[in-house]
Amino acid sequence: MKPLIELEHIFDAFRGFGRPLKEAREALTNLVVVGIAAKTAKEVTVEALYVSPTKISEPPHKINICVQTSAKVKVEEKILSISCSCSSGSSKARCCKHAMACLIYLERNDKSTLETVTCSDMEECLGGLPEKTMSELEDVPLAEFCHFGEPESLNRRPVLEEIPEELKEEFRKRLLEAHPESEAAIFFSGVRQKINSDSNPDERNGVGSNLIRSVIVQKALRNPSYILKMAQELGESLYNKCTAEEKNYYDKHVKFHEDQVLDAFSLTPDSENWFDLTYGRLTGNISYGFYKYYENMEKHSESDWNNKISGSFSPYGFADQAKKEVNLYDFAALKCYEKKNPGKKIEQAGVFISPLAPWLVCSADGVILEDGIVDRLWVVKNPVKGATHNAATICNVAPCMKENKLKKKHKFQGQVQLGMLLLSLPICDFTLYCHKADEVFVDTVEFNDKFCLKYVTNLTNAFFTKVLPWLALNVEI
Ligand SMILES: [Zn+2]
Repeated sequence: MKPLIELEHIFDAFRGFGRPLKEAREALTNLVVVGIAAKTAKEVTVEALYVSPTKISEPPHKINICVQTSAKVKVEEKILSISCSCSSGSSKARCCKHAMACLIYLERNDKSTLETVTCSDMEECLGGLPEKTMSELEDVPLAEFCHFGEPESLNRRPVLEEIPEELKEEFRKRLLEAHPESEAAIFFSGVRQKINSDSNPDERNGVGSNLIRSVIVQKALRNPSYILKMAQELGESLYNKCTAEEKNYYDKHVKFHEDQVLDAFSLTPDSENWFDLTYGRLTGNISYGFYKYYENMEKHSESDWNNKISGSFSPYGFADQAKKEVNLYDFAALKCYEKKNPGKKIEQAGVFISPLAPWLVCSADGVILEDGIVDRLWVVKNPVKGATHNAATICNVAPCMKENKLKKKHKFQGQVQLGMLLLSLPICDFTLYCHKADEVFVDTVEFNDKFCLKYVTNLTNAFFTKVLPWLALNVEI
């Protein structure tokens, strides 16, 4: 057994064709005819047909290679000529992958297996092949294959011939909400204009703000602190010991669903729902008092507790307190803070209630975003002394401060820590606004989990054993 050419002849023909060599090897399977077209004492002319797998309807390429048969001939003279119908320029020096495939075929196969092909053989092949190949490769619908299930339409719902106006409007709204920074969203909502203007805070609520609030809420709900989960467990065990009336009150007025969280967080303090949502729960503002009361349990009688609770939740007092939290200077303080901290933007927040521990409420002033990323909590206070002191001296006179830091044992500390816990934020910029000088003093407070654990444990106990029984007894459902 002996092939017509040897490996060295291939190397000679393939000089400088690194990439086509691989392609040629792969093209081997597309050679449909390889045979001897002419033969003399010294030379053999091989002809081959190549069918392109991607162009099966086109005529195949015809390859012509002339080889000297003498064993004594030099390597570089063994192959006399190469041509291919794919390109008029294809030659021994510029060998295409079809001709290369043919050379590999000649090296791999015994020359005795090469049949003589006549002109008519080739003509027949040239004329008949595409059709034959076509018929073999005919495309068949998937449905006709037994191993495929019944094909389903890509549009499962019938396509409406005409899109109703309200659906178009819904599409438009959703697209704009998904791209709040787009010029179209800014144009339709007017948000950029309003954020940059000195308009009042309510006007800052736009498409962009809803989206940002949604991001803040999602972040808080997805990453609850272990302390919150612990509070949930404690709450569940205490709930089980409650009376039917208490459970009834809890189910109707305290229980909070994840679906309600974003709406509550988007509330503005002047909204009527603000009172309904926060009433009966331990807000940041009143929580410290309950924490201390529970800590010194033995000092307080039942009637002390009743006075404490009714004082905190008398509809009048509670409403007043909620109103008090909305300070006249809050928006000025916000602008002042943002001016002092370029890159930071405050998103004003409503009420945050976690479904895990809905007896606790955070009514934060805002959440700070740094370059669009949710960064920290914002709690602002507007001390009366702000009328006579500036940022440099306000800490000397503000009762909540000691050595320029928010006191560890102060109700604002409780409010700040509870806010960070509920919103899953690691830090809070506790801000004192000096309205006369239009300056802010900022103390960055870190989340204190040791404090929070004790704080939340006390509050949960106080709620279920003291507050809830009082609510069930005194508030009409
Ligand atoms: Zn070619």
